[in-house]
Amino acid sequence: MLLGIAIGDAFGAGYEMQPRYGFTLYMDKYLGRNSIKPGCYTDDTQMSIAVAEVLASGSERSMWSFADSFVKCYSRDKRTGYTSGFTSVLNKCKNGQDLMFKVGGNSEKNGAAMRSVPFGILPKLEDALGAAIQSAIVTHNTKKGLMSAMCIAAASHYFYYNKGEPKDLIGYCIKACMGYDSETDAYLKEVDKMQGIDSNTLLKGNTGVPCDAMITTGAVLYIASRFNELKQVMMESVLLGGDTDTTASIAMGLSAIRPGLDTLSLFMLNDLENGAYGRDYLIQLGEKLFKKYPSQ
Ligand SMILES: [Mg+2]
Repeated sequence: MLLGIAIGDAFGAGYEMQPRYGFTLYMDKYLGRNSIKPGCYTDDTQMSIAVAEVLASGSERSMWSFADSFVKCYSRDKRTGYTSGFTSVLNKCKNGQDLMFKVGGNSEKNGAAMRSVPFGILPKLEDALGAAIQSAIVTHNTKKGLMSAMCIAAASHYFYYNKGEPKDLIGYCIKACMGYDSETDAYLKEVDKMQGIDSNTLLKGNTGVPCDAMITTGAVLYIASRFNELKQVMMESVLLGGDTDTTASIAMGLSAIRPGLDTLSLFMLNDLENGAYGRDYLIQLGEKLFKKYPSQ
């Protein structure tokens, strides 16, 4: 799961905000973009690590502990990929309380969804949803922000605890969120009916996946529920365009839960960054989580 998040993030980062219809081929190596070096992940993975560390530590799953962990993870390993506004807030924070007081907290973007894959490992669905809400409240305390986080936690829980077939994933997430945000609820029902990717329905007139909580959720749930091969999950995520690192990170994190990473091209694992918080660290953290919350 964690490696899937990082690989999707690092690979997707090379394609972020490119026009959707500009691609003619699927690149088989990482592309660097701005200051994000090839193979390096961004904010999506760092925030997923932050929530995973709280889960692994067994400490209280509160907005305060998640906020603390966001600040801690950023401070020890300053990453690009966060918005400039959030970066400047993070740079001024010493702890989670600082963050809670300094950040706007009412975003409808996809930042709460992008860090919610790890929550699915909690054995009870309501705990997974509750933890996703506590994490989301820090920055995305809006109906759409909270529902996006709950949907991704539910999706991860569905795969991790083998609750059913991938094709029934979206229905499960809709049910889990109990219509919390009516617009997202109606949108996901439409997405679930799509026969193949219909960009009018899925992207709502956007030329790629925008940094929007609801549309990002629709895109990743569609991909994770309809494509089994990880390679295809990556390709579809990138080909949707827009916020590709977030789409690929969430979709790959979810999809890697089931078959694992074996079908991926080796370069994706081998060329993933392996510094202090890179590949080996992700593997260790994943093992710790699996020990604490075994899926079977
Ligand atoms: Mg990112």
